[in-house]
Amino acid sequence: MITRWPTWSARCEWRDAAGYRSPTTPSVGDAHSGYHRRVNRSVRDDTPLWLFADQLGPVVHGGEHAHREVLLVESTAALRKRRYHRQKLHLVLSALRHAERDLGDRATLIRTDSYTDALERFGRPVLVHQPTSFAAERFVHRLQQQGLVADVLPTPTFALPRAEFEEWAGNRTRFRMEDFYREQRRRFDILMNGADPVGNRWNYDEENRESPPKKQKALDVPAPYRPREDDIDEQVRSDLDRMSLDTVGADGPRLFAVTPNEARRALSRFIDHRLPTFGRWEDAIMGEDWAMSHSLLSVPLNLGVLHPLDAVHAAEQAYRDGRAPLAAVEGFIRQILGWREYMWHLYWHFGEEYVDTNKLAATTPLPDWWADLDADAVTAECLRHALLGLRDRGWNHHIQRLMVLGNHALQRGYHPRQLTEWYATAYVDGFRWVMPTNVVGMSQHADGGRLATKPYAAGGAYINRMSDHCGDCAYDPKKRLGDDACPFTAGYWDFVNRHRELLEHNNRTRRAVQTMDRLKDLDAVLEQERTRSQF
Ligand SMILES: Cc1cc2nc3c(=O)[nH]c(=O)nc-3n(C[C@H](O)[C@H](O)[C@H](O)COP(=O)(O)OP(=O)(O)OC[C@H]3O[C@@H](n4cnc5c(N)ncnc54)[C@H](O)[C@@H]3O)c2cc1C
Ligand code: SF4
Repeated sequence: MITRWPTWSARCEWRDAAGYRSPTTPSVGDAHSGYHRRVNRSVRDDTPLWLFADQLGPVVHGGEHAHREVLLVESTAALRKRRYHRQKLHLVLSALRHAERDLGDRATLIRTDSYTDALERFGRPVLVHQPTSFAAERFVHRLQQQGLVADVLPTPTFALPRAEFEEWAGNRTRFRMEDFYREQRRRFDILMNGADPVGNRWNYDEENRESPPKKQKALDVPAPYRPREDDIDEQVRSDLDRMSLDTVGADGPRLFAVTPNEARRALSRFIDHRLPTFGRWEDAIMGEDWAMSHSLLSVPLNLGVLHPLDAVHAAEQAYRDGRAPLAAVEGFIRQILGWREYMWHLYWHFGEEYVDTNKLAATTPLPDWWADLDADAVTAECLRHALLGLRDRGWNHHIQRLMVLGNHALQRGYHPRQLTEWYATAYVDGFRWVMPTNVVGMSQHADGGRLATKPYAAGGAYINRMSDHCGDCAYDPKKRLGDDACPFTAGYWDFVNRHRELLEHNNRTRRAVQTMDRLKDLDAVLEQERTRSQF
């Protein structure tokens, strides 16, 4: 039977001075039977709970665990392991230290080299929730064998438990997000009128694909929530300076929520002021509007301080109260209950080897300007602008990630594993579980179509339609040959030519091959792209 979640308004009875519930109120995950695996009976009731840095919300440490001591670990080895964006390290440290402060006497934060060292110093076995990557899961298993971990509970930071996804996946070999998403809508009774979708349609993508408005430099929407930095952020900044880590990207003000309280404020600001325009320009890019109507909630969601069902219920309630149109609300819910959950579950379902699939045999190493986020080395306005945003904020919206950066990497054959690593470290919301399906599957088609029905490759015409960049660019989106030939337009034909066999056997891409075969200057275009050194 479907559990009807408490509605957003009912749950807001706990509103505190900031207008929102305190983080100790019962969590949505607790209400869900799939997450309700009891702690092993041999485990003492006062066993402390260890929280990973992406499990910092009340859904993890509240409810039935609210009486437990909490262990938090800042591992310098983990900070040094990869070349992360400076602002990502700031967000993670800030989140951990704010959790320590918010949990007060319950929390012990140990700063040391490794997690093992921290657990040994702590000196008592701990409970932990399943971590969010294969590597961390193996690590926790080893700790359990060493007696440092007493029991491992299911991760409650997603809507659908892993076991229920596996039931849905069954023996499927082809996966389509739309099927999964409709099941999620039914399963959680979201935007439903009995057995039918509200408005009698499941999908409003058609309404959610508008080009950016003309004669405007930015959308006419209130700015997103911006957290106020405090003494913890100041200390994090000076600690990061002192550690002299090898990072990428610029330092900058903290832009994303890292505590449950901040997350609730960020969600509220989005729902009240920005959700109504979310859908319409969801796929558009504007040079002078970095956030447009996006929610900027991926960081608090991925840190575990915001539960996805809280965001989904808040959006549904806005629709039911007549505060936001259905197309926008459906578009937003699709992202969280659909895409985000789908990517999480497929990470586990496809297995650890998935990240190494390379069906398009892409072997180009990432160029230094790309790895270093050196936007100044780039002429192509759309690419320069996306890299600039990434350098300065560690964030781009979806279409820049997919149709500018991902599209460029696909056309140029960047190595998918290296690219996955790059996305995971360069983005403030990059976590291990979210990368393989987004990069290897969706963006690079390196899985041969297990996840997406066709490669997301597009020429300059698409970027010209969906952005306001081309007018300011030294290249011409209509030209494929010559000094001002658009690298995306020419690169597109180079891509189609390289993979013609795959594309001509796919109904959705066959026409591209037929069009390419009619291009009289194709050989010259291919030669030009083979020797292109400047983008
Ligand atoms: C190549 C590539 C790399 C990406 N890397 C990441 C990443 O490292 N971390 C990350 O959280 N998202 C990633 N995404 C998905 C998406 O681009 C970001 O979640 C989104 O841009 C974050 O901004 P927002 O919170 O304003 O999102 P909004 O546009 O407001 O969307 C709402 C929420 O939907 C969720 N969402 C939507 N699509 C996806 C998706 N494909 N996968 C996971 N969540 C999704 C996010 O939680 C997001 O916060 C990636 C997408 C692509 C194509
Ligand atoms: S002309 Fe080409 S390179 Fe320049 S902004 Fe447009 S799509 Fe990008």
